[in-house]
Amino acid sequence: MFYPVLFVSLLAFQGTLCEEEEIDGEFALKYLSDYHYISQSRSGNHDITTAIKNFQGFFGLPVTGQLDEETIYQMKKPRCGVADVDENGERVRVKRYSTWGKWRKTDLKYYMTYGEDMSHDDQSRIIAQAFKMWSDVAPKLKFSRTNSISDANFRISFGKGTHAGVPGERRCSSKFDGKGKVLAHAFYPEDGRLHFDEDDYFTETGSFWNGSQSLIYVAVHEIGHALGLRHSDVKGSVMWPTASRGTPKLHQDDIAGIRSIYGR
Ligand SMILES: [Zn+2]
Ligand SMILES: [Zn+2]
Repeated sequence: MFYPVLFVSLLAFQGTLCEEEEIDGEFALKYLSDYHYISQSRSGNHDITTAIKNFQGFFGLPVTGQLDEETIYQMKKPRCGVADVDENGERVRVKRYSTWGKWRKTDLKYYMTYGEDMSHDDQSRIIAQAFKMWSDVAPKLKFSRTNSISDANFRISFGKGTHAGVPGERRCSSKFDGKGKVLAHAFYPEDGRLHFDEDDYFTETGSFWNGSQSLIYVAVHEIGHALGLRHSDVKGSVMWPTASRGTPKLHQDDIAGIRSIYGR
């Protein structure tokens, strides 16, 4: 059974920890479960040490199987809400990009609503620029904006907590967590939903000084998912799970990934 296994592991695991470490331990367990390092299926991996090792391996940390400071620090970085590994808790692949599904057509339309943090003109321009970064390297892809939700392949929206998407869209199965941590998530082809956490503060390129996140960076990453790319364990790739500030530059890994789906 799923719960008893987890529960026993949790007790054994917390036996040697002091109070602050216990909080980090609970946080880490939730993290490992949220991003599927601990399996979502009954038959998959429920071993905490293996889950920690897989996490450390993915992020290029020393693989100790221990919740050391560096591991917790990496877990607390702002990131994308999409899981890093498959539902069995196994790493999907060893190196470089991996893909999951594709759009059967390449002439794709997007519909967008706006967040509260920037002017509508700025947000329109940033989202268009984010799509263009992908079509620049995979020219078969053509993106255009539509004001008709029913014509759209991609639907971009901002929401807090338990959120719905664009008008008429059903409630999202994945809840946002307030400021920090999860910034956005997107769904694989041919779903087309891209959701940004309205509790986060977005500016064009983000700033360490005011705590804002880079809308352009997060948008390029989420569009990557919506086109069929999974998280990459190549540090410096846009499809790396944690968010950076500034304007993204597609890494060779991202380019190889998108071209493997849509050609040159
Ligand atoms: Zn992601
Ligand atoms: Zn959502």
